[in-house]
Amino acid sequence: STSTQSYLVGLIGDGVMPSLTPPMHEAEADAHGLRYLYRPIDLAEIGKDATEVGELLRAGAMLGFNAFNITHPCKQLVLEHLDDISDEARAIGAVNTVVIKDGMFHGYNTDASGFSWALANGLPGATLDSVLQLGVGGAGSAVAYALLDSGVKELLLVDPEATRAAERAATLAMQFPEATILACDFDQVPALLPRVNGVLNASPVGMHHHPGLPFDISGLTPGHWVADVVYRPVDTELITAARALGCRTLDGGHMAVGQAVDAFGIITGTAPDTA
Ligand code: NAD
Repeated sequence: STSTQSYLVGLIGDGVMPSLTPPMHEAEADAHGLRYLYRPIDLAEIGKDATEVGELLRAGAMLGFNAFNITHPCKQLVLEHLDDISDEARAIGAVNTVVIKDGMFHGYNTDASGFSWALANGLPGATLDSVLQLGVGGAGSAVAYALLDSGVKELLLVDPEATRAAERAATLAMQFPEATILACDFDQVPALLPRVNGVLNASPVGMHHHPGLPFDISGLTPGHWVADVVYRPVDTELITAARALGCRTLDGGHMAVGQAVDAFGIITGTAPDTA
């Protein structure tokens, strides 16, 4: 891109007004000397339903937007409005970044690459033989993909919505045939803990408006690593408790930074400087 190139980027989702993503993108742009305007577009605030995400994309294209980040609850709904979708985003079944070029919509998912970066940088050398993951929704699908892509050999998926865990396990088993991927019952968690090297929370439990611990942590030992995707607050009850036990921890802030840096790199064509 030339020095006169400028970018207009929006973040479409529900409750995005307090998002940390806009300042992260703008700081990254400043570091690259780019003119970059990143605006949250809150569905509730503009009176739009998540099913109208396609209409918003088309309006944005007409108004000169270069790209959008897409967040809850539009990451899956947006798929049918795109002209092409990256292999990774298709495999995960969700898109969080849409680049508009010549009126065409190109979809990507940087939640997975952002989490892979977080894992490699925030928990270097962590043993990845067997991992227990709680929550297999939008973020969970991306981080499960990232864990397997990062070399996890056995992935145990737990979600109170048991069919969701079973369906994701079946999809991932086709994408990563060399790995063992099992959907397990929520009640089994205490019995599973001694078998795994680390635990990842990809459920919303621990968020400001959803406080608590996502599972019974009485079986956690200092030998476990513990990761969380929740980043509001960064120090969730799980991360705080695990740290007190002496576990290595990875908070959700790392993934939030990783997904933003990767999205910025895709939108501007600049190599992310943390890669
Ligand atoms: P979602 O609603 O799509 O999925 C959440 C899943 O968790 C559901 O399947 C639900 O049944 C399951 N669940 C609920 N309680 C559980 C429990 N106790 N144990 C196991 N599973 C449980 O939500 P989402 O979009 O995947 O978001 C989840 C969290 O991830 C949110 O807090 C969100 O802020 C966070 N997130 C973080 C980043 C980041 O960059 N750090 C990126 C995306 C999402």
